Amino acid sequence: MTDTNASSGDALYALVAELYPICRSITGAGVRETLDRLSAVVPLERVEVPSGTKVLDWTVPLEWNIRDAFIRAPSGERVVDFKRSNLHVVNYSVPIRRSMTLTELRPHLHTVPEQPEVIPYRTSYYQETWGFCLSHAQLQTLADVEYDVCIDSTLEPGSLTYGEFVVPGRSSDEVLISTHVCHPSLCDDNLSGLSISVHLARELTRGPQLRYTYRFLFAPGTIGAIAWLARNRERASRISHGLTLTCLGDAHPFTYKRTLSGRAPVDRAVAHVLAHSGFEHQSIDFFPYGYDERQYNSPGFRLPVGSLMRGRHGQFPEYHTSGDNLDFVTAERLGESYSVLRDVIRLLEADRIYRNLEPWGEPQLGSRGLYRAMGGSDIPNLQLAMLWMLNLSDGEHGLLDIAERSGIDFRALARAAEMLLDHGLLAPV
Ligand code: ZN
Repeated sequence: MTDTNASSGDALYALVAELYPICRSITGAGVRETLDRLSAVVPLERVEVPSGTKVLDWTVPLEWNIRDAFIRAPSGERVVDFKRSNLHVVNYSVPIRRSMTLTELRPHLHTVPEQPEVIPYRTSYYQETWGFCLSHAQLQTLADVEYDVCIDSTLEPGSLTYGEFVVPGRSSDEVLISTHVCHPSLCDDNLSGLSISVHLARELTRGPQLRYTYRFLFAPGTIGAIAWLARNRERASRISHGLTLTCLGDAHPFTYKRTLSGRAPVDRAVAHVLAHSGFEHQSIDFFPYGYDERQYNSPGFRLPVGSLMRGRHGQFPEYHTSGDNLDFVTAERLGESYSVLRDVIRLLEADRIYRNLEPWGEPQLGSRGLYRAMGGSDIPNLQLAMLWMLNLSDGEHGLLDIAERSGIDFRALARAAEMLLDHGLLAPV
């Protein structure tokens, strides 16, 4: 992995492309290989939770692995071949080897008739079955002859694997960045999230010491987040802000899904950053579906975890199909998403309460050298940012409050705050 600037998107895209061929599932070798590749960016701690372990109301399933699968015509041709696309096999299919006519096979074949060219992505984690996915166009070309059908998979006691990486800060209060790691060859959902998360983790390790402790979690959807919560009930209460990341490489406008309360600092931080980003965006209220934000926001935990995405879960045609491929995501979009996320982190880091040390009237900025200190920057705006900081720094309003009240970008306020601090006009509370 070369070390290029993640916000350009090239390194983000390169990692998506590297992870794309791997057949992932909620357990098995594909998840481990994926975590190994992510560990080349930052060294993840890997946790194995044995099959059969009770985690909250769930049980860790048998581990699934697959070597090969095909539907072979009498000519010897593999008309459907796992080796061409891992989406061809229903994820978690039990092994099978049998001769079958097309009529017998048909109940096990999945297509999307409305999109005849794509292969759907299907799973059957908690119900023992098997199946193949193929394009509807291809299904219509299959003759009703006898096929050699093979899924060379195993479902055996093993473990569920997740990875985490912690960047310690001055405070033990945590920011959780959680991404699911269980989807096979699908780029937007969710290689985009994995790549952005792991690159952000690396950037945070290289910067100055942080205020919050950052926890990056890479876990299979639902059961992985549940396993983490089951093993970290105590630690979970330290999570002050959190985001799940998904579908961040497509060309759709940004969508932010709020936490359950809708008024958590992370909700306000993301809303503010998106509003000042120049990117098209929308915010939607929480609902208990989608990704692992629904585990974190459950009543036993009630963690303030929102979800940052572009295309929305189930609402674009490429979603959960072979259309979610390396052409569907771009370096540019990944880079934009990365920069939005990084600005959210910067805001959370910078959001604090100050007190104006000269609160009686307006302090004279010029005599204190503040105009000189502004140098060649946009003086009227910076001056206004300083005046807002001075006016609202009464020991009650933090930087995000002031950003919301003034409509000024938090980055300008943070810069103004720094200068006022340097010139003895503000003190942190
Ligand atoms: Zn998905």
